[in-house]
Amino acid sequence: MSKMTARTPAAFASAAAKGVKGSKPAAKAASGVDPKMRAKPGKMVYFFGGAQTEGTLEMKVLLGGKGANLADMTSIGLPVPPGFTITTDTCALYYKNGQRLPHGLMNEVHKNISFLERETGKKFGDTGMPLLVSVRSGAAVSMPGMMDTILNLGLTDQSVEGLAKSTKNPRFAYDAYRRLINMFGDVVMGVDHHHFEQEFNKIKKKYNAKLDTDVPEQGMIELCDIYKATYQRYVGEVFPQNPFKQLELAIEAVFKSWNGDRAVSYRRIQGITGLNGTAVNIQSMAYGNMGEDSGTGVAFTRNPATGENTFYGEFLINAQGEDVVAGIRTPQQVDQMPKWNKEVHKQLLDIKVKLEKHYRDMQDIEFTIEKGKLYMLQTRNGKRTGTASVRIACEMVREKLIDEETAILRIPAGDLTQLLLPSFDPAAKKKAEVITRGIPASPGAAVGKLAFTAGEAVERALKGESVILIRRETSPEDVEGMHKAAGILTSTGGRTSHAAVVACGWGKCCVVGAGELEIDPVKGKMTVSGKTYGRGDVISIDGSTGEVFVGSIPSVEPKLGGDFSQVMKWSDKYRKIGVRTNADTPADAQRAREFGAEGIGLCRTEHMFFEGERIKAMREMILADNTEDRRKALDVLMPFQRDDFMGIFKAMKGLPVTIRLIDPPLHEFLPNDDKSQKEMAQQMGISAEKVRQRVTALHEANPMLGHRGCRLCITYPEILEMQVRAIIEATIDALRSNYKPMPEIMIPLVGTHRELGLLRAKVEETIAKVKEEQDYKPRLDVKIGTMIEVPRAAVTANEIAEKADFFSFGTNDLTQMTFGFSRDDIGTFLPDYLTKEVLPADPFQTLDQDGVGQLIEMAVAKGRAVKPDLKIGICGEHGGDPKSVWFCHNIGMDYVSCSPFRVPIARLAAAQAAIKADKGE
Ligand code: PEP
Ligand code: MG
Repeated sequence: MSKMTARTPAAFASAAAKGVKGSKPAAKAASGVDPKMRAKPGKMVYFFGGAQTEGTLEMKVLLGGKGANLADMTSIGLPVPPGFTITTDTCALYYKNGQRLPHGLMNEVHKNISFLERETGKKFGDTGMPLLVSVRSGAAVSMPGMMDTILNLGLTDQSVEGLAKSTKNPRFAYDAYRRLINMFGDVVMGVDHHHFEQEFNKIKKKYNAKLDTDVPEQGMIELCDIYKATYQRYVGEVFPQNPFKQLELAIEAVFKSWNGDRAVSYRRIQGITGLNGTAVNIQSMAYGNMGEDSGTGVAFTRNPATGENTFYGEFLINAQGEDVVAGIRTPQQVDQMPKWNKEVHKQLLDIKVKLEKHYRDMQDIEFTIEKGKLYMLQTRNGKRTGTASVRIACEMVREKLIDEETAILRIPAGDLTQLLLPSFDPAAKKKAEVITRGIPASPGAAVGKLAFTAGEAVERALKGESVILIRRETSPEDVEGMHKAAGILTSTGGRTSHAAVVACGWGKCCVVGAGELEIDPVKGKMTVSGKTYGRGDVISIDGSTGEVFVGSIPSVEPKLGGDFSQVMKWSDKYRKIGVRTNADTPADAQRAREFGAEGIGLCRTEHMFFEGERIKAMREMILADNTEDRRKALDVLMPFQRDDFMGIFKAMKGLPVTIRLIDPPLHEFLPNDDKSQKEMAQQMGISAEKVRQRVTALHEANPMLGHRGCRLCITYPEILEMQVRAIIEATIDALRSNYKPMPEIMIPLVGTHRELGLLRAKVEETIAKVKEEQDYKPRLDVKIGTMIEVPRAAVTANEIAEKADFFSFGTNDLTQMTFGFSRDDIGTFLPDYLTKEVLPADPFQTLDQDGVGQLIEMAVAKGRAVKPDLKIGICGEHGGDPKSVWFCHNIGMDYVSCSPFRVPIARLAAAQAAIKADKGE
């Protein structure tokens, strides 16, 4: 800071007036030091302004995303009001200190306030033209709406008069003051916003004002007094009249909000860990509420819902920033701005281009116009839907802003689901009754019953209900309910309101600003066009058009093309790991092939036993008292299985198909309740007692660890014989019809090499027998391998590899048995484990690399030590989870296998893993 040269107020004014084109990068001009090296140990505050900018974009971790961007924007000559940033390290220190501001911090703050005073020519707490500041949080990772903002800080009973006089606008001054008392009371001291709102409504009534802006000067003056009394009533102290006291309390409130429920909840949902804390940005105020020539807005440099390359956003005349985001007044679209101020609109369009050239990414900006002069308050990489991220990435490559690798890394692989999302069936939609329309904020189609509070949405969703969360507007407190709901519908707000921004980020279907809706959360009622709907009513919302329908509309699968195909092509060019699918039917296999699957990694054959005649034969087999009767039943099943395999071979022509032999315990094929057992007995012509006895005999205390997987075939080898016969007969048939089948037989739940040895011999013996019967002489290339899903198998993988042609990690069971968590019952305690951060994520969704991952790595190493060419894949649910795919790539697996809809995600994630590895990341 010592190097900082003071500037006169006039110098600041002229630098700011030069706007976008005029001023030079201040940071580079100010010193020849590499900006990245500026971080100094022990330094808690970094200044940005016309005189010098101490921070850089690279200092995101220290200054938070917002602070680093403010510094960077100032450096590239954008018109940013000057200010300073308190580092995230200081926040960490605050917590380390037992929630006390670190020693020396307020001294640094005082010093920086003096710099600000010099830059702006205003004085903090002045009775002339007071310097007012905003106080905002900003962590290294953007968390929209998670932290609290305080505006107009520095106003007191005295300085408000100064502001009124110097701006010759008392209404504006008192409006600013009442906002400060409200925000400060709410955010810093925890006074419910509702208490202030009530008083505001009374004043509005008194002055017959429809809108906030209709309240006259006298009303605002009265309101300030009432607000101060309200503040005192709930806080027990007068509203602080020392601006530095206000600042100190505000800084502390921002630090505190870092560990507030909603921030913690957001970080958990987003999987954000390892951050130090939040930075605090203190910035001189620019006023958007100084009259009809002032305003404020938020915009994206491209459309965040579709990705279209148009300037996209909203602004409000005579308003402050929070008015737009809070969704209280409905703003105008930025393309309407030229009617109001052509010059500012043009300036914004120039800034759009400049920002994209500089950041090489779509930006989300906040701006304010004070008496016709534009100020940039914020820029950050904009959140976008999956559809938009694909389009923007592709178009930016075509515009030569980024290269292919950057484009691939830019698209969150999981977000591809949104492109694969269903939309409403157009024919059914035509017939459905539209009850109202809102603004389409996040695409997709959602159907559910009405839930009126976030808490209710969470509760009902956890019970398995599909709910649409319906609110006037949402706030950060609602995130949990928003996350759990199938869709979100609000009656106020625009595309950049809290609901829209958060839903867009998640790719959750959302419609906002449906102004005709009257919502009563207490009674649980929603009224529109004279009709009332309650908790039991189902609605359908279309996030792409903004329509709201009564009833449930069926949806249709999306069509893919253009940019999506381009991304898939690039992914295949860069990825090194194969991508297969888990599919049990020819239709699934076909769909997965269309999504680019290179084979089937897991065909769960037991799924084939449930349809029509088959289940009857299956049950006969289970009820059989002896091997002969069992074989008879299996003979009935065999042709069904053979035909299924034939269908799959046809669909996967020329690609490998891994067929797993029967896995679940037999009781899963029998009905549990008396009534169904009686029906079954009747159908089979046996006594209900016999069925009941068999069900009782098959009962296991712990079926997941019971008689299942390879253990079944050890007991009943005839089941294996039937399945292998079906596979081989289908293979020979397919070969003769030139379908190029490539079957691989997989034995599940192996824990010791003896199990595999015994069953492998049985498989080989059956293959030889069928070949002979079929008079098929050429060599049959059928690989025989095993799943590694029991920890013992991983530990003894070297022994098992001796008898296996391939390994496929069944990480569902491996996770279950490694943690000792029942995969069917984890729902009862997982929420607590996540809330209390015992686990970073659901281990059945994202592979636990530190535990289960270690077993996998060990098994790969042990297996390949015996057979260097051992083919290795994964077929648990993790095969379609991006982080887990990266892990599989990094440890040298040959392929991942996942459900058909996740195949594109796995292809992209695999490419990202390869590119990152090449870059040494
Ligand atoms: C597994 O356990 O990971 C697996 C793929 O098998 P299943 O889910 O059928 O038990
Ligand atoms: Mg399994």
